[in-house]
Amino acid sequence: MARLARGAFSSFLLLNFANAFSPHPTIRTPLHQEKLGRLYTSSSDTTNEITLNPLVSSVKMSKTVEIFSLVKQMEADGISVTSLCVGEPDFPPPPAVLDAAIHAVQSVDTRYTAVAGTAPLRSAIVQDLKKRKGLEYNPQTEIVVGNGAKQCVYQGVLATCGPGDDVIVPSPYWPSYPEMVALAGANAVILPTKVSDGYLLTPDALRSTLESHPNTKLLILCNPSNPTGGVHTASRLQELAKVLEEYPQVAILADEIYERLVYTEDGVCPSFASMPGMFGRTMTVNGFSKAYAMTGMRLGYMAAPAPLAKAATTVQSQITSCAGSISQAAGVAALTNVSEEEMEANVKIMKEKRDYVVGELGKMEGVTLGSVPDGAFYVLPDVSAFYNGDDAELCLDLLKKKELAIVPGESFGAPGTVRISYATSMEELQVAMRKLREFLEEC
Ligand code: PMP
Repeated sequence: MARLARGAFSSFLLLNFANAFSPHPTIRTPLHQEKLGRLYTSSSDTTNEITLNPLVSSVKMSKTVEIFSLVKQMEADGISVTSLCVGEPDFPPPPAVLDAAIHAVQSVDTRYTAVAGTAPLRSAIVQDLKKRKGLEYNPQTEIVVGNGAKQCVYQGVLATCGPGDDVIVPSPYWPSYPEMVALAGANAVILPTKVSDGYLLTPDALRSTLESHPNTKLLILCNPSNPTGGVHTASRLQELAKVLEEYPQVAILADEIYERLVYTEDGVCPSFASMPGMFGRTMTVNGFSKAYAMTGMRLGYMAAPAPLAKAATTVQSQITSCAGSISQAAGVAALTNVSEEEMEANVKIMKEKRDYVVGELGKMEGVTLGSVPDGAFYVLPDVSAFYNGDDAELCLDLLKKKELAIVPGESFGAPGTVRISYATSMEELQVAMRKLREFLEEC
């Protein structure tokens, strides 16, 4: 499959190379270039003298993105791929969200906003956190709206960590965490969780990691988890908070972007900031991509005590200024104009999909699932019985032979597993499960 990737990429390069030297190029030279008389390209100007920032060189490109690009390339080549790679709901944003975006465009609401977000959005976020989580933030000083939760996580890391600092990242992890820590010049301490614990962080494991890493500055806790779908209960979060009480210098970045997608009886994901003694040092990150399917609108936020929110705002002010004004208007509608019934209907559909996928995986010989995931829209089955545990090779072969795309567990710090996103249509899931079963039977 690596061959396929390289093949696709080299044919792309070859086409462009041939085109550049063709006497009849398919793309006409724009007028201003004709006037200039020559075309400036990287092949005419050497860039050999330029070295990259070593921090950037050490950062890995996300495997998910790599596989997704390959899927897109195969599709462009006319191959129909079943993709369960990307963390994106298949349903559209609620009508109220789309209407608000259209209204913002029609009202020419297209200017820069305050760096930390518009006043209506910040106050809608504060109201939502108060109503659903019992958390009380000051909209002026404790909310930072950014271009997606991803940016907010990175700003939280940059605001608190630098060279010499350790950051605890429980594994399996969202691949961006360790890379963001590396970009900040800090050191990611990977804390493996066990499948027998439902991949949840235990107080004992947290305590011993804190004891052995006295330079710990930050703990990143993703709840519900991407990629395991595990949800820490309120009592488990309280136990973790109790351990952290002994380490007052440690901040917590609680990534709760999947908190509206929980399939337990009460459907609640408790906020880490609401645990005893944790409000004053928790940066809660949330966003609109998963719950409201607003992935392309790029909207997320951080809620944190004023000094941390201020630091994150300073970082944001120097890199992107504010989130898009139209997206922010849509965000207000998401929080104030979408009914609970509508939200619950999406959760119900997602739960049906989870149940279907878990049921199908359960029938596949050699595939094991430690526990049924309670949240998000991922499952992380163990497939180490195949390909001598080489999950990357398995995924690449699966894509090549069955045109089914899933992500190798190695990119989540979970070798021997694969991550399946079930946030797609039921029809697509049925095709995917058939392809996976046939592929594994042929192994
Ligand atoms: N955190 C986690 C755990 C995620 O899975 C994602 C998206 N895949 C994000 C943050 C970022 O979401 P966005 O930037 O789209 O708001």
